[in-house]
Amino acid sequence: MSELDYTPNDCPLPRRRADFDTFDEAIDYAARSAKGMNFHDARGQLERAYPYAQLREDALGHAARLIGMGVGRGDRVALIAETSAEFCAAFAACVYAGAWPVPLPLPTTFGGKDSYIEQLGVQLSSSDPVLLLYPAEIGDMAAAAAANQGCRGMDWDEFAALDAPEAELPALDPDDICYLQYSSGSTRFPTGVAVTHRALLHNLSGHSRSMNIGEGDRGVSWLPLYHDMGLVGCFLSMIGNQVSVDYIRTEHFARRPLAWLDLITRNPGNSMSYSPTFGYDICARRISSQSHVAERFDLSRWRLAGNGADMIRPDVMQCFVNAFAEAGFKASAFTPSYGLAEATLAVTVMPPGEGIQVELVEEERLSGSPRDLSRPARYRAIVNCGKPLPEMELEIRGENGAVKGDHQIGKVWCRGPSVMHSYFRNEEATRDCLVPAEDGGEAWLDTGDMGYMSKGYLYIVGRAKDMIIINGKNHWPQDIEWAVEQLPGFNHGDIAAFSVETESGEEAPAVLVHCRVSDPEERVRLRDQIADKVRSVTGMNCVVELVPPRTLPRTSSGKLSRAKAKKLYLSGEIAPLDLAA
Ligand code: ATP
Ligand code: MG
Repeated sequence: MSELDYTPNDCPLPRRRADFDTFDEAIDYAARSAKGMNFHDARGQLERAYPYAQLREDALGHAARLIGMGVGRGDRVALIAETSAEFCAAFAACVYAGAWPVPLPLPTTFGGKDSYIEQLGVQLSSSDPVLLLYPAEIGDMAAAAAANQGCRGMDWDEFAALDAPEAELPALDPDDICYLQYSSGSTRFPTGVAVTHRALLHNLSGHSRSMNIGEGDRGVSWLPLYHDMGLVGCFLSMIGNQVSVDYIRTEHFARRPLAWLDLITRNPGNSMSYSPTFGYDICARRISSQSHVAERFDLSRWRLAGNGADMIRPDVMQCFVNAFAEAGFKASAFTPSYGLAEATLAVTVMPPGEGIQVELVEEERLSGSPRDLSRPARYRAIVNCGKPLPEMELEIRGENGAVKGDHQIGKVWCRGPSVMHSYFRNEEATRDCLVPAEDGGEAWLDTGDMGYMSKGYLYIVGRAKDMIIINGKNHWPQDIEWAVEQLPGFNHGDIAAFSVETESGEEAPAVLVHCRVSDPEERVRLRDQIADKVRSVTGMNCVVELVPPRTLPRTSSGKLSRAKAKKLYLSGEIAPLDLAA
């Protein structure tokens, strides 16, 4: 087994930048190139080289199996999206067969077996698949979830062992659904978006053009394939652009984050590799004076260090630059982007080479609250998330729907060919976010995010649902969380802020904080220090609860879920640590 082409420029065909009508054409086209995927093990060694030609051949066999089993056009096939050739081939097989693949998460370390079976159950119930395919290692949990839903379940090997009778593949239409993508579940239970071939290919060709993906580029990824950034950005886009990609599994990245950077070092192509802020943060923290950064890593050919999916933290990005500049990492490689599952993936992308650019905005202006003159002004650096993809329109709207001008903060609305027509079988949620257009054109998607435009570039401020509103005054949770993080001993992701009702019936800000201190008296001191900090930011008294490390809930894509943290706290499932009496 040899590693797939590490030499660029060997695609025998002219590049087409995802210019296809339906995704099966993209797979057929990529299969004619010498490109493909490399799967690496926990130590970063090549485990399996999987050319796109092989992916296509396996997928066609599997498509025949699906059709032979009676899986028809439009039937859902749920796939546990582990980072493996089996998942990728099964996904492509569903596309060929006209069935709709539904990538679902693997178990995470948060929550136990039962909660995984339950979560899988809810997603199986809402996507209503005829079949669930999964890796044998989690066979007991997946089979239990499938049985609860009355859906057929089998592992990859059982499926591959089925007969593959002669089958005629359906001709696909650009307006057919290609797959279902669940949102992350940061503010609610994950909701399934029905993504058409047209939306997918528009997004692929749009972000390829915006990021100038071309000859010599090569992907490297640890992102989970059930999340849109991993699925679309690091799998479907690689096929659409006929570029090779190297994968390590998310669980291996979690254990050995620097294996990600080892892979980038070994990649002689120009790397494209994306991560939410926390991925860069973890790597920067792993570096010590004994790390031999310059000897171990060469990050000089990292062309697109994509960043999105969650708030981009300029301070964390700067730490990453400080840690890896001596390995040749260029800050200009950072490529911020903004997107969401409802718009397939990307809505805006920063032009490559421009790096992280920020505007300093007063926190009270960000939250729309009147300025409190008794306290010094505080500023947040808001990151420029780039320009809309071609044919995507963006508008900032006020509460009354009026369009806002440059630098005015409001709801971020977007529309264009990448935007969904509906969630899958969820009319209420669809009605809540798709707003009929006044001009009779396509509906607008209310993204649920707040932000502003400046000279055609988008700046994201926060999620409307996360806003803390107390006595008619607004506060962004991240302004509170990031202020508390400045205290010594805290890391990015250690704090969740939201509002609670106090015993006197009033709303107050509350923060849950991971605490690594064992002495109860020391904990009291810490709690008071945190309360002081929050008072300095908000001018209000705050409920501070110290909780054990790793208890704040994250989505399966690794984002903090404040809504879930609040729910678990109020139900007593997150139990605060004891303090000295
Ligand atoms: P759910 O909709 O289920 O609550 P989610 O919104 O996190 O979860 P996704 O569609 O995976 O689900 O993520 C999209 C969201 O991620 C955006 O709406 C936005 O809140 C956030 N996001 C994406 N890119 C950025 C960015 N560059 N800066 C800030 N936030 C971002
Ligand atoms: Mg969302």
